[in-house]
Amino acid sequence: MRTDEWLEQRFQTLLRRHFYDVNLVNPVDVSYGIRARRRLGSIALANGRSVIRINRLLAEQAVPVYVVDATLGHEMAHYVHGFGSTLPRRYRHAHRGSVVDIEMDNRGMQEIRLQAHIWVEENWGSFYVDECGDLSAKKQMRESHRRLCWETWMAQCNRRSIAEIEARHTVILRQLNSSNPPGYRLDWLVAGPRHTALSYYYDNEGVLRFHGLLADRRISNSVVDFEVAYWQVRRIVGADWSKIRAYMLHHGLESTLEEAISWRQRVWTVFRKRHVDEVFQIAEQC
Ligand SMILES: [Zn+2]
Repeated sequence: MRTDEWLEQRFQTLLRRHFYDVNLVNPVDVSYGIRARRRLGSIALANGRSVIRINRLLAEQAVPVYVVDATLGHEMAHYVHGFGSTLPRRYRHAHRGSVVDIEMDNRGMQEIRLQAHIWVEENWGSFYVDECGDLSAKKQMRESHRRLCWETWMAQCNRRSIAEIEARHTVILRQLNSSNPPGYRLDWLVAGPRHTALSYYYDNEGVLRFHGLLADRRISNSVVDFEVAYWQVRRIVGADWSKIRAYMLHHGLESTLEEAISWRQRVWTVFRKRHVDEVFQIAEQC
């Protein structure tokens, strides 16, 4: 792997060889960015500094060094033209009329540029799949495995169902004098080890998802009621906890609130760690 220091040195060498005449009117930071599918580099002006980001995949030894050089050179050509820098802008469009290529060629980078172009054309697609394709495939497999585990576990007898939670929801809404339809639906969350909350509200999807373990009847109804009430009240008074609490107390949810919060503080973390493992083990035996 090529380190940040390596990249910085490569950049300094490039400046000396091909951009020695350029007045660096504002400082330039070079670093690796995300592992993008298409874009190899970018330059942008932020707080008076030019920030050049290089696709993190170019840190791999499998990518020829001239591809890194060509990418840095491309971004520096933008800098010279006043894109992503405070230099006066020379053109209306950053790329139109091949101005970047011409700039690089005039600076003795033609061979590097063409070599890099050929390598990218011939290799980038399969290289990207080798590096990242398996990542997304693994993620998908983990997700579907998780889903299967939860479905198997949920199918065991005497689980609490979403229909039951919906019924509790209706009761709670009545108690909160909230006659408006909620405007969101209820569903289970396909929870993994990182889901530490009992419920999550997904605004963009309009769905309130409950941690699958709430299907376990050892968790009392008041815990479910509290989750349901919390999100509804939050829609009414906003995210400020003291306001949410006051609103709940005012609507007679004092014992629900106390019981739920005390349970969450004393039991939930241990309960979750122990039983989430159980969920994933059960399915493996099937
Ligand atoms: Zn460009």
